[in-house]
Order: sequence, then structure tokens, then C-alpha cells
Amino acid sequence: MKIIGLIGGMSRESSLEYYRIINETVKTKLGNLHSAKCLMYSVDFEEIEMLQHQGKRDELTEIMIDAGKRLEQGGAELLVICTNTMHKMADKVTDNIALPLIHIADATAKKIIEKGYKKIWLLGTKFTMEQDFYKGRLIEKYGLEVIIPNEEDRIIIHRVIYDELCKGIINPKSKKEYLRCIDTLVQNGAETIILWCTEIPLLVQQSDISIPLFDTTKIHAETAVEESLK
Ligand code: GLU
Repeated sequence: MKIIGLIGGMSRESSLEYYRIINETVKTKLGNLHSAKCLMYSVDFEEIEMLQHQGKRDELTEIMIDAGKRLEQGGAELLVICTNTMHKMADKVTDNIALPLIHIADATAKKIIEKGYKKIWLLGTKFTMEQDFYKGRLIEKYGLEVIIPNEEDRIIIHRVIYDELCKGIINPKSKKEYLRCIDTLVQNGAETIILWCTEIPLLVQQSDISIPLFDTTKIHAETAVEESLK
């Protein structure tokens, strides 16, 4: 079993999910008392969130590289960045760290393609929904067509992620709003919803919606285990 190195804390709420899912997957696959060999280096998300909203890309990149190096020095054999948004720095991290990175977009895109989808409807932070680092990869590398919610709904989705979900607040009113945003996408032809933010599964699950849903936290964590056990 390879040691999984997790860059966590983005946010602490979804990092808990990564730890849980990784260990539950190992338990399912190996049984008995087996658990995952892993290390987590957890950043201070207050600092990250400020730099993100100030557009300080270089500083964010330095923090990610530093975190990756700490994990590498600690003995990790695989690298997992436990958030979608901070994959904006993924290429710079892999340029500076020798560990293989399990990219969340690659892991998810493979599952989407396996299920036969070519067009996807994506929910995440405004950074992930609007900037090219993510959509670009899905379009260029996997030939997927990517649809995002309208601007008004993107603002709501983004606000709930940072003001509530990353703080561990699960608000039924926000859930209603998310389901309304998803319903708008469905009315406009959505066939599958991708929760492209690691906190959204805390609020919305498959049982809440009528079309197939892909949960990037689960897919990413499970892929990390598959790679660790290869
Ligand atoms: N965890 C979230 C994501 O998957 C948002 C927090 C962050 O900005 O890293 O994008």
C-alpha cells in the first residue's frame, strides 16, 4: 500500500470527508482492520481564501508547493490536493515535486466518460466555474462540453461554499437554493450534474435529484485508494 499524501484544509470540512472516504474504501477493499496509510498537511484556509479572492496566484502557488514538499519529505508516495479550486496550481506543483499527482479533474473526467457522457453541467466555486484552468482541461483533454449555471446562480453557489459549507454550516434554505439552481439546469436540458467542489456533497446528494450526479470528493478519494493499492 502506497502512502497517500493529502494537501488538506481547503476546507477542513471536506478534508474530513477525504479521510473518511479513503479509509472506508480501504476497509471495503481489504477488510478486517485495514486502514489507509496517509499523511495530511493541512493549510490555514483563512489565508488561502483571502489570497484567492485577491487573485494572488503566486503566493497560492508557493503555499501549495511548500505543502507538497512537506508531504514528500514526510514519506508520501502519491499526492492528492483535497479541493477542486486549488488545482489551478496543480501543474506548478507537479513541476516542483516528484510525487505522482492524482488530478481531481482527470479522475472525475474518466468516470464521466466511462458512463458515456459527453456534455456535463458543473457546479463549483466561481473560480472553477468561470476560469479556464478547469473547463479548459475538461474540454481539451477529454473533449467534454461544459455548461455552467447562469451568473446569478453562480454567485449564490459560490457564496454558500465560502460562507457556509467551508465553515461547517448546513443550511436547509441554501439546500433549497441549490436544488433550485440544479432544477434550472435540468429545465434547460442538463443530463448529469457534477459537484465540482469538495464541500457541495455535504449539502446535496444523489437522493435529492432525479438525474445522475458525480461527486468529485468521492471519486477523487476512491481513485487515490485505487492508486495506492496498485
Ligand atoms: N473545496 C472547494 C473546491 O473544491 C472550495 C474551497 C477552495 O477554494 O479550495 O473547490
